[in-house]
Amino acid sequence: MVVPARRVDRNTRRCGRGRHVGCGYLTDFGREPELGVTWTALTNAAILDGTGAPPLTNRTVLIRDGRIHDLPHASGRLPDDAVVLDLGGMTVLPGLIDAHVHLIGHRTMDARDMAFVDPALRAVRATADLGRLLAAGITTVRDCGSATALALKQAVIEGSVPGPHIVACGRFIERTGGADDFSQLPVAWMAERGPWEPRLADGPIEVRKAVREQIRAGATWIKTCTTGAVTTQAASRPDRLEWTDEELAAIVDEAHRLDAPVAVHAHAAAGIHQALRCGADSIEHGTLLDDEAAREMAARGVFLVPTLFTLDRLLNQGVAFGVPPWAVAKARQIAGVRQASFERALRHGVPIAMGTDCGGQDLLPHGRNAREAELLVQSGMTPSQAIAAATADAARLLGIASEVGTIELGKAADLIAVDDDPLRDITALQRPAFVMVNGTVAHDRRRATAAAVQ
Ligand SMILES: [Zn+2]
Repeated sequence: MVVPARRVDRNTRRCGRGRHVGCGYLTDFGREPELGVTWTALTNAAILDGTGAPPLTNRTVLIRDGRIHDLPHASGRLPDDAVVLDLGGMTVLPGLIDAHVHLIGHRTMDARDMAFVDPALRAVRATADLGRLLAAGITTVRDCGSATALALKQAVIEGSVPGPHIVACGRFIERTGGADDFSQLPVAWMAERGPWEPRLADGPIEVRKAVREQIRAGATWIKTCTTGAVTTQAASRPDRLEWTDEELAAIVDEAHRLDAPVAVHAHAAAGIHQALRCGADSIEHGTLLDDEAAREMAARGVFLVPTLFTLDRLLNQGVAFGVPPWAVAKARQIAGVRQASFERALRHGVPIAMGTDCGGQDLLPHGRNAREAELLVQSGMTPSQAIAAATADAARLLGIASEVGTIELGKAADLIAVDDDPLRDITALQRPAFVMVNGTVAHDRRRATAAAVQ
């Protein structure tokens, strides 16, 4: 069976009431003015707008009520009551998007620690991670599996806690005994407080119910796995199919029926083929991507989110951070072919979005997410392509390109500023000096520098 991928623009689901706190699936971009109009001007900047156009120099970003209003030349007149922030010649880019994170508050790779930490503590840690993401210039994330992210999304929308925009998948849907079902723990434990918070379901009826539960809880994407994971269940393998076609097609059909695209974790070619056959909208990891799959993804606009950061860290620091030897061995098995798969994706023109798979562990901490852009360049992208993968293309994947991803008039003022030219040195993205979300300053290293000088 072949189910066509469907692009869904979640902004059609806005409730039309601005910051409507009770609306579980509202994605909150821009701010409703509370009293009058507010103006902010970011002056003395070069603008790399994320469209691939060359930088504009000597510009001002003029922001009205949290949205980009104009990009006048430095000599242009500003509103009298504008708050003026001098960026000192830095380069301004769209806020970065990490299209694959887990806001789940893990701190180690030790399965016992993951399993026995109280979910409330995990939630507090994940809340702290939002601040790390903002300081790293990540202004939007797609959470690819956690119940906590649904609550965090709501908390950010209502203004209870600062954080990036959160596009949430809710609990990821997984078969009994699948990649993140720790078989050494009772199944009832897994259902209530499993360390990766999966929703275990089996058979086409039950998986449809599992999808409906996530949408009910506020998810706008659905996440599942077609092959085993690298770091979790020793009995689950990256080269073995997790679902029957009937089960996976039911997940995708139910999600699409409810306007939610489906992200599929797939390492092996068979898992990627099954995901495509059943209508998946993005392939996560895609480690063993063959020509046939790459051709189909390019033709249908199915995104690849390669999560290079995770494998890089696993191979280079996994042992030091306590990853079990069998998991490092699994990683080593797939590392050899990863580069060839990535080059194949580039050659066929597969759309690629930046995603790290960070979950807050010491091995995969939030806050270093932009290292993924450096790895994309090391693996064959140009800096301009890597910037697009982290901004405009990621926004397109998430269905929010009308709101974020480029510096264009009318979009939410999600912006970062960096000292160095990221087209010459992509690592500049890892050192944002200034970060803004919805026109509100979220991180400003310029002030710390000025204070240190005084
Ligand atoms: Zn993941």
